[in-house]
Amino acid sequence: MTDANAALRARDLQVFWHPCTQMKDHETLPLIPIRRARGVWLEDYDGRRYLDAISSWWVNLFGHGHPHIDARIRDQLDTLAHVITAGFTHEPAVTLAERLIARAPPGLGRVFYAENGSAAVEIALKMSFHAWRNQGRTRKTRFVALTGGYHGETLGALAVGSVELYRETYGPLLMPTLQAPSPDCYLRAEGESWESHSRRMLEPMAALLEAQHAEICAVIIEPLVQCAGHMRMHHPAYLSGLRALCDRYQVHLIADEIAVGFGRTGTFFACEQAGITPDFLCVGKGLTGGYLPLSAVLTTDAIYQCFYDDYTTLRAFLHSHSYTGNALGCAAALATLDLFEQRPVLDDNRALAAHLARALVPLTEHPHVGEVRQTGLIAAVEMTPCGDRRSHYPWQERRGLRVYRHGLTRGVLLRPLGNVVYFMPPYVTTAEEIDLMVQVAREGIALATAG
Ligand SMILES: *Cc1c(COP(=O)(O)O)cnc(C)c1O
Repeated sequence: MTDANAALRARDLQVFWHPCTQMKDHETLPLIPIRRARGVWLEDYDGRRYLDAISSWWVNLFGHGHPHIDARIRDQLDTLAHVITAGFTHEPAVTLAERLIARAPPGLGRVFYAENGSAAVEIALKMSFHAWRNQGRTRKTRFVALTGGYHGETLGALAVGSVELYRETYGPLLMPTLQAPSPDCYLRAEGESWESHSRRMLEPMAALLEAQHAEICAVIIEPLVQCAGHMRMHHPAYLSGLRALCDRYQVHLIADEIAVGFGRTGTFFACEQAGITPDFLCVGKGLTGGYLPLSAVLTTDAIYQCFYDDYTTLRAFLHSHSYTGNALGCAAALATLDLFEQRPVLDDNRALAAHLARALVPLTEHPHVGEVRQTGLIAAVEMTPCGDRRSHYPWQERRGLRVYRHGLTRGVLLRPLGNVVYFMPPYVTTAEEIDLMVQVAREGIALATAG
């Protein structure tokens, strides 16, 4: 067998330290060098193809090499790639802000740009704290996060996350935060509905806010799906209840829609399913269609006004990144928004999500599947030893990795989170491609749970 990938693989292992990877794994697990990608297919140097069932880490909405996004970026490149955005501005950044505001829940009128999701989360946290400070509420210094939440990898974002391994490792570096139990419906009682469980989880949140609201700046949440925390899902009733609690106790609500925004859950933003407007809305990932690093924080005029004053009051927001409002990134984002206007994307997604749900039905009966759950175009299959929601495979067994390996042999990129095999396909995936990814996942799950 020829292996045109081998040369690049060898060079890679000499110099490239990969994200979220125990590099020693690559002594036995071959890296996959990708030469090009078109639509939902990635292709290596041997011409082997891989179906991108996870949208290249949840960023790619309309496929790779999309002609409209490609063209819009090329056009932008002809006029302006990037310029400082302190004191200067440019048309793509202004238009993108206008169009994001038009798409967002009512009441969000200001856009602050950053370069990745973690930075957007840092900005929302700082802005919330600083807005209270500018109002003389200097005791408000703490944040409430949910168990199972994930908000990125920088220290502030990690502090409001609760992925156990991260907390164990970096705990001594993290600011102390308050934790409330997640509305995660995997943990519901036997026979309890999603809605009832999610509503019940508002009670400990209410108690926490009641007791400590004077010190709390904001609550941060991933609306509807805690993605990195094993694709755990909750009912929109939790979001509307949480909005009401935040209003009652004068605490900001930060909605981190970095993974779930842009049509992923069935509505353009997940918050819409609860009819709420957060005080801060963080977007990233799919914002540029998976092309370029760009993120943004949308906020209200009320927050903006907390900072708007004479220079000498020193109330201005203190934050900048070198590439804030990068013009190429804004062009890619504008092209992505165009695609939502050119086709009824949300309707198409609903049809594709229904197809995905049908394809997954056989897995619900599998003896080692504890649950199959779905919200829009996110579906997850929880592998458990007894096929219930209480038993767990020890993480050391790395059963998800077996599914990943099987997927690669069959030309499908699946990347389970622990024992959870999930699908987060690009919106342009066909019904046949959905069937293929589910079929390969079924085979992988059978292998991974056999003994
Ligand atoms: C991925 C993610 C982030 C972090 O975004 P990066 O661009 O990887 O820094 C933050 N929040 C959520 C919900 C995410 O899924």
